[in-house]
Amino acid sequence: MARPHVIDLPRRIIVGGNVIEEAGFHARRVMEKEEKVLVVTGPHVRVLVYPALKQSLEDEGFTVWVREVKAPTVAEADEVAEEAIRDGVDVVVGLGGGKAIDVAKYAAARAGKPFASIPTAASHDGITSPFASLRGFGKPVSRPAKAPDLILIDVDVIAKAPRRYNIAGFGDVIGKFTAVLDWKLAHKLKGEYYGAYAASLALMSARHVASHVEEIASWTPEGLRILLEALVSSGVAMCIAGSSRPASGSEHLFAHAMTMLHPNPPLHGELVGVGTIMMSYLHGKNWRKIRKLLKRVGAPVTAKELGVRDVDIIEALVNAVKVRDRYTILGEKGLTWEAAERLARTTGVID
Ligand code: ZN
Repeated sequence: MARPHVIDLPRRIIVGGNVIEEAGFHARRVMEKEEKVLVVTGPHVRVLVYPALKQSLEDEGFTVWVREVKAPTVAEADEVAEEAIRDGVDVVVGLGGGKAIDVAKYAAARAGKPFASIPTAASHDGITSPFASLRGFGKPVSRPAKAPDLILIDVDVIAKAPRRYNIAGFGDVIGKFTAVLDWKLAHKLKGEYYGAYAASLALMSARHVASHVEEIASWTPEGLRILLEALVSSGVAMCIAGSSRPASGSEHLFAHAMTMLHPNPPLHGELVGVGTIMMSYLHGKNWRKIRKLLKRVGAPVTAKELGVRDVDIIEALVNAVKVRDRYTILGEKGLTWEAAERLARTTGVID
C-alpha cells in the first residue's frame, strides 16, 4: 500500500479589520490553556504594532515576552527555540513582514510549540505555508517547519505597510502559474508525486488575483483582502501537497539565484514576478499577459525597475538550475548564457 499522505492545516485563519486589537480574544478561542506567549518581531514593528498586540493578549490573561530578530538565520531561530523551551513558553508568535515569521515558525517547530503567524505585510505566501526560508541552510530555499496553528491578518495594519511590499505579494501569487506547470512537467517526465488538488488550489490563487487585478491595483481594503486570501490559499496548497512544489517552480529558482547573487537583492515577490514572465515564455504561455498584470499593479518587469544590472539577470537565469534539485522547464542542465540572454531580451526584461 502507498505511504499515507499526512496533511497539517492551520487551525484558524482570521482576516479583517482591527484583528490585532482583538488578538487576545481570537487567541483565547484557539489556545484555552496556553499562558505564556513569546512574540518574535523586528525593530520597526515592535514600535508600531507590538504594543497593541501585547495589550490585547495581556487583557485576556496571557503573559507576553518579546524578542527582536536581528537576522533571519538558522542560528537565531535555534536560539529562539532554546529560549522558548527554557522559559516554558506555550506559544511562539511571528509578528512582521517575513523575517520574524520565518524565524518564529522554524523556532516553534524545533521547540515543539504551537505557532501563530501575524503578518504586517502581504509580501509573500510564507505567512501561511509550513516552510521557512532562513539563511544558514546553505541555499536560500525553504525548509519544512510547521503550519501555523493560528493566522491573524489585520487588513488595516497591512494597508499601512510600504506599498512595495504588498505589490511584491502579487508577484509571488502570479508565480503559481509557472510553478504548477513545472510541477506537472516533473510529474510527466520524472514521475514525481503530483497532487492535482493542491495544484488546482495554487493555480486558483493566481487566477483569482489575475481576475481581480483592477481591485488590487486600486489598493482598496477589498483589493488587499483578495490578495491576502490568495496568499493564504497558496500557503494552504503547500500544506496539502506537503511540499512547496505547488507554489515554487522555475520562477522561484530564478528569484533564489538572484538573491544568492546580489548583496542587496530586490524583494522576493518582485523577482518571482519577473521570473514568471520569462518562464511563461519558455512554457509557451501568454507571457505578455503576465507582464501586463504585473505592470497594472505597479510591479517591476525589467532589470532596470528591479534595480539590477542586465548581466545579473542573465547570470541568475544561468545559475537557477543549480539552486536546488527540482526539475522544471529549465531541464537538468539549465540555460546557456546565450539562451538566457535571448530569453531576457525577448521578454523585455533586459534591453
Ligand atoms: Zn515565494
